[in-house]
Amino acid sequence: MNPVISFYPGPSKVYPQAENYLHDAYKSGVLSVNHRSDVFMEMLESTIVSLKETLSVPVDYEVYLVCSATECWEIIAQSLVGTSSLHIYNGAFGAKWLEYTQKIKPGAEGWEFGINEVPDVSGLQIDLGHDVICVTHSETSNGTMLPVSFLSALRGHTQQLIAVDATSSMAGVALPWMDADVWYASVQKCFGLPAGLGVMVVSPAAVARAEHIGDRNFYNSFLFVRENFIKFQTPYTPNTLGIYLLGRVMQQVPGIDETAVELHNRAREWYTFLTDHGYELLISNEAVRSDTVIAVQADRETITKIKAGAKQAGLQLGNGYGKWKDTSFRIANFPAITMTDISLLRNFLFSISHS
Ligand SMILES: *Cc1c(COP(=O)(O)O)cnc(C)c1O
Repeated sequence: MNPVISFYPGPSKVYPQAENYLHDAYKSGVLSVNHRSDVFMEMLESTIVSLKETLSVPVDYEVYLVCSATECWEIIAQSLVGTSSLHIYNGAFGAKWLEYTQKIKPGAEGWEFGINEVPDVSGLQIDLGHDVICVTHSETSNGTMLPVSFLSALRGHTQQLIAVDATSSMAGVALPWMDADVWYASVQKCFGLPAGLGVMVVSPAAVARAEHIGDRNFYNSFLFVRENFIKFQTPYTPNTLGIYLLGRVMQQVPGIDETAVELHNRAREWYTFLTDHGYELLISNEAVRSDTVIAVQADRETITKIKAGAKQAGLQLGNGYGKWKDTSFRIANFPAITMTDISLLRNFLFSISHS
């Protein structure tokens, strides 16, 4: 039997080229060497250089690799938030980030907005105490994405650090790097890789803040991570295989501008196809629909029927998430998914909508 084609928004489809990269990694010997050796350091450097080039990361921004996006919540709360962060969110991942931060910095506050809204920056009360403003770029739970105009307006509205959860958009969308100080993602979404790494991209202002706060209490304190990465080392024995695969994929894929245009067009085709065939999108406001995660809503019974039918056809749809768990399904529109994969899913969705 052919493996199921995954449209789950993470973990999702892994690039088929990864099969050969796994073999190459083994043959290269890098998996058996010490992480302070030249062989490892050269491999890490080349991975970071390729990532910065492919994703057009500004030269003065630094890239660190950690274990997951969730770990970035912890690193930011421990090492970058002084007293309180302000979390602007509309879904489950943004809410979890806030909750998580409150356990470490009890002063953290939330500002929730509606799923069809672009939050209005002019109405935002940012106190002096809110030293990091936290936003979720692509809210994977409901298929919304913040427009670039919001990020630039937020940048113009505050001098505070801005941190962005771009877990399901980094490597799929051209991110306006300069409009925030910390961007992070994990590799099992748009990077088309097996889970096990978080990518953290930080501005000089974020580094300065970490130095000012001076947190060195944890194994993953920002400053420890940084001191190692600027030497192309890691604070602890790392996921060498994951780093190797990341480097190979970053060398393989086209530059982000090309990928972003393609995904954007594919997303528009998805939205048109779905509405043309009687599916109801969870997000009615086109301006906030995600390019990378598409959410469709229906009653429980219909959702159950569609998901079961898809599974039988060898297609894995994403379950709904959080409060939309039973009344929506999600379709990943990640770069590793091909037009052939998409045609198979469209044929299925077409046939079931007419049955
Ligand atoms: C998947 C996801 C996370 C969690 O990623 P992990 O790799 O499991 O830590 C966080 N935020 C968003 C927006 C996500 O999509």
